[in-house]
Amino acid sequence: MTAEQVGAAVVGGDLDGVLFDIDDTLVDTRSAFGTAMATVAAVYLPHVPAQQYAEVLAVWRRDAGGHYRAYTRGDLPFRRQRHLRANELQETFGGQPVAEEKFDAWDAVFEAAFEGAWTPHDDALAAIDAIVGAGVAVGALSNASSGYQTRKLECAGLAHVPMLVGVDTLGFGKPDPRVFLEACRRLGTAPSRTLYVGDELDFDARAALAAGLQAVWIDRPGSRRGGSYIEDPALAAGEGIRVVTTLAEIVPLVVEP
Ligand SMILES: [Mg+2]
Repeated sequence: MTAEQVGAAVVGGDLDGVLFDIDDTLVDTRSAFGTAMATVAAVYLPHVPAQQYAEVLAVWRRDAGGHYRAYTRGDLPFRRQRHLRANELQETFGGQPVAEEKFDAWDAVFEAAFEGAWTPHDDALAAIDAIVGAGVAVGALSNASSGYQTRKLECAGLAHVPMLVGVDTLGFGKPDPRVFLEACRRLGTAPSRTLYVGDELDFDARAALAAGLQAVWIDRPGSRRGGSYIEDPALAAGEGIRVVTTLAEIVPLVVEP
């Protein structure tokens, strides 16, 4: 499939609403994780040189053990998944495991650095303003908890995007279709007239489409995770999922010229 064909998958009909994923869609979470990883590695993996921090970040984002996804299925508590991921890093890079009684300290180092680095993607605000300005409703649906994500949106200067559904709303997250339908209900739009925009092809775009919404996969350059993540633009387009590389490309799909 050519690049032109990839770009030709259609978002059809009038849209009344746009639901956004937050992490790595509106907020530059990858960069914030980069800051957090460098900070925890300096303390807990002091033998790892700074030149290797990009690798530490890649292991964190890939989450080969699937712990974050287990959390979003409701199978692991938040703290437990993060502890398992912390120890996955320790093991991968030759550090000592972080004991249960020491994990709060690890998490405090991580969280302070992570939260301090929450910033929006530089295309987010303009796209949201254009969509809202055209009278189209916007909201957020995320697999983290609602309170945490509300704070993240505030810190990133996106407090005017309402956080509609988090993993705590129904007790599970994407890709379950019920979370998409609940987000549409709260947004006040019919699923078929609602567009979902997210950076994970399977848990965001494919899942939204399966729930009856329209779907865009934002495949930002250099942002893929690898490993078990499905990240194939041709596959997406073949399934009727529009692929974009910036949020600016969303605006003409939503706003009448
Ligand atoms: Mg995301």
